[in-house]
Amino acid sequence: MTEIAIKNATAIFYLIGVLIFLTGLVFGSFLNVVIYRLPLEKSIIRPRSFCPVCGAPIAFYDNVPVLSFLLLRGKCRSCSAKISPVYPLVELLTGVSFFLSFYFFGISWKALEIAVLLASSIAITFIDLKHRIIPDEINIFLFVFAVFLPKEIWGVSYWPAAGLSALSGLSAGLVLFLIAIAAEKIFKQEAMGMGDVKLITALGAFSGFHSIFWLIFISSLIGSVVGIAVKLRKREKGYTMIAFGPYLCAAAIIYTLFEPRLKLLF
Ligand SMILES: [Zn+2]
Repeated sequence: MTEIAIKNATAIFYLIGVLIFLTGLVFGSFLNVVIYRLPLEKSIIRPRSFCPVCGAPIAFYDNVPVLSFLLLRGKCRSCSAKISPVYPLVELLTGVSFFLSFYFFGISWKALEIAVLLASSIAITFIDLKHRIIPDEINIFLFVFAVFLPKEIWGVSYWPAAGLSALSGLSAGLVLFLIAIAAEKIFKQEAMGMGDVKLITALGAFSGFHSIFWLIFISSLIGSVVGIAVKLRKREKGYTMIAFGPYLCAAAIIYTLFEPRLKLLF
């Protein structure tokens, strides 16, 4: 390629990158609705967005991702109640996630897989931290998406790959279910919610049989480190139930990114 052709290709690459980032921002705005409404079992389609304090509907020009938050200086236009910075944070995280998926994997199934995994992880993390639940809707969506997503890298044709994916997920769920029961017997307390079992079923469908050990190992490792750190800071004694969903998501993301290297180890 000539120098100009390379420059043009680079410019086009970043132009697409910016468009994908903006799409991510808009999608992040939708994730905010999911994060706010799903745990309360409200519809994510209707009604339109409104201020949770005064109930005033939010006009489209006040609902532009990140930008509106900055222009309104984080306050509701009608009642001046403070808007949580979590909203622009979720939008920004989703925009960056979409951009990075494209940056590293181009326009491919793998990029779509990573983008969906990251976006779902954002929703699951914020919901689980606040409500200590993982909505079934997200787990079911992830499982179905993972099973029917083409997996050219698995080296088998479509339907066998889909079947293998479903079987991987169900096996992962069964393994964590057995661990949860064993832990409950040993510690005489519920150690893990069924939401976590359903989540690993969905994540296992994403990453296959090889991932089961790694998903459990990496999430437990991160969970232990964070759990000990929180305990030391709060000087709490005894047992505290932690939200395990975010660690499972982190494990799935780490596994998906480092898959070829991890497979060599196990
Ligand atoms: Zn308001």
